Amino acid sequence: MNATASTPKAVYIPRARLLDPSCDRNETGALFITPEGKIAPVPAPLPPEDSLIVIDRPGLTVVPGLCDVHVHFRDPGMTDAEDLVSGSNAAANGGFTRVVTMPNTSPATDSPALLDYILNTPTAVSIYPSACCTAGRAGEACADLEALAAAGASCFTDDGAMVAKPQVMAAVMRRAKALNKVVMDHAVRPDIQCGGVIRDCPVARTYGLPIFPAEAEIEAVRDDIARCRETGCAVHIQHLSCAGSVELIRQARAEGLPVTAEVTPHHLALAAEDIPGDDGNWRMNPPLGLRSDRRALREGLLDGTLTLFATDHAPHPKALKEKGFKRAPFGIIGLETAVAVSWEVMVRQCAMAPLLWAKYWITNPNRLIGLEPPTLCEGAEAEIAILALDDEWTLIPEACACKSVNTPWAGKRLKGKALATYHRGTLRFAQ
Ligand SMILES: [Zn+2]
Repeated sequence: MNATASTPKAVYIPRARLLDPSCDRNETGALFITPEGKIAPVPAPLPPEDSLIVIDRPGLTVVPGLCDVHVHFRDPGMTDAEDLVSGSNAAANGGFTRVVTMPNTSPATDSPALLDYILNTPTAVSIYPSACCTAGRAGEACADLEALAAAGASCFTDDGAMVAKPQVMAAVMRRAKALNKVVMDHAVRPDIQCGGVIRDCPVARTYGLPIFPAEAEIEAVRDDIARCRETGCAVHIQHLSCAGSVELIRQARAEGLPVTAEVTPHHLALAAEDIPGDDGNWRMNPPLGLRSDRRALREGLLDGTLTLFATDHAPHPKALKEKGFKRAPFGIIGLETAVAVSWEVMVRQCAMAPLLWAKYWITNPNRLIGLEPPTLCEGAEAEIAILALDDEWTLIPEACACKSVNTPWAGKRLKGKALATYHRGTLRFAQ
């Protein structure tokens, strides 16, 4: 082994915007990481050149590592689409250092053995796996939530499906509350969705596609809020997409209920009216809302009704996504475009404060699952993302770390990207 290659080096960023929601810091400054991986004052003199990595270029922003509470790594079961290693590499490329994997694997993540497998696989980011609410994600009987929590489940969800039976959801929430865990719900009522794939829009009419009504989500959110009121358990609504749901969340939070909701970059940036044709890469669940829904989601984030971003990174093999709107599976990849899309829409177009953007990617996702967020403060273990928010680039999906290429941004120009992350003592440049 080469001794010099294995010797940890210090990292020095002489000039960057330091954006840290843990201490409301948004200022230009320098950042130094010791060879032991701690954030420290810049020493004078600097360490010798051969034991120092300097990252010096204009336009850098340094933030604590981003956290995504909604990713599908398809492992075990569908590893031709993604696996724990490729998904984690995609996350690191996107500026994330922590992710919450969804349990709609095959078999479903409803056992301590599967959590052990996920937690013991070496990956580029920290994975905090969710586990199922119900056995086999079948929606009928509570999973062994106590055993799953003891094995390291960060939260409970049947994502991909709602826990639709009220008495089952109430039982899940009572047990989750006793464990001090949040229940996340894919709030879509199957009896109202009824096989729908797209909101009523020009492309839906041209191709005669089955309609996925907004009420499928709105009524599900209403149900989840009712169960929250009944049990007192913290409930988190995944991938919100409709104006009507935003209003229900606003009322529930005004009532003091522990209800939170996330929004994906694609629901913020795109709308059903923009769908270009019968293209499976525009099919997601819930579907893209109308422009009026998109406006309500943006306003909900700006006024603090909705308090976090999440990608719902959902890789699928190309052959399946080529089947068109009616037959392709739901979902798009999102980890490697999240920074670009969310910064463009919310900060550049909607004038969201950069610190609020950072809070929605860092502070609030961590708090949701009971973690202390990382920080840029001196003395902290370094866990950071180095961003170039003004860099323009073209998304070539085949060049991404993700194994799948299902994204409506393929070939599109984007602005803003992650250049590197520093996590667990390792500086990792995006590939
Ligand atoms: Zn979902």
